[in-house]
Amino acid sequence: MSESTIQIALVLPDLLGTYGDFGNAVVLEKRMAWRGIKAEIVPINYGEPVPDSCDIYVVGGGEDTAQTLAVKHLREHPGLQRAVTKNAVVLGVCAGIQIFGESFTRADNITHPGMGLIDSTSHAGGSRAIGEVLAEPANGLFSGVLTGFENHQGRTVLGPSAQPLAHVKVGTGNDGSVEGAVQGRIVCTYLHGPVLPRNPQLADMLIEWATGTKVAPLDLPAVTAMRAERVKAAS
Ligand code: GLN
Repeated sequence: MSESTIQIALVLPDLLGTYGDFGNAVVLEKRMAWRGIKAEIVPINYGEPVPDSCDIYVVGGGEDTAQTLAVKHLREHPGLQRAVTKNAVVLGVCAGIQIFGESFTRADNITHPGMGLIDSTSHAGGSRAIGEVLAEPANGLFSGVLTGFENHQGRTVLGPSAQPLAHVKVGTGNDGSVEGAVQGRIVCTYLHGPVLPRNPQLADMLIEWATGTKVAPLDLPAVTAMRAERVKAAS
């Protein structure tokens, strides 16, 4: 493995991978390859050690039982936590935002410790949030509306060290008002789709953080058309 290959850890795809969230890792790899940046996906399955040497970690969504098993494993094998102290870039989706926080209370009212990577707590909402979401990126983080699909019972409250990723226009996100979280180089969202195929501008932000290099836009008409169609469907 050459030193210049960007390693994308696909974390526990066997537990956390609802709605094709592994596609986020594929998009990162392809968008780098198309710019001549060498990248490879490193799957880490349940029961395996978690390396701390990857450049990007991608964590997907999962139901309550799966995410509880996942957080137990990730607390027992804290490679991801060590990688964060070494400035790794991290994307956490849905169950990801919940397990990255200080704690999460499941729909059965049992509270579990999280990984303590972001200043947040999650609790079960009164209803399940299901449907298309549109949100405006916060703090000019990236351009274009954030589009995705949500399906979660949990609601997330951010503490002062975490910033929202976006402000909700349609849908629920964390709490009906803000969507996702950003803390250092950790980005979280409730959005599936998967989120990176639908939001190439967010994918490129993560790539620029991981490589330390500005990347030129890619002209992919199929992606532009898909985004327009999804945004229209949600409006
Ligand atoms: N189990 C969590 C919830 O329902 C996360 C669901 C998901 O990742 N789609 O809130």
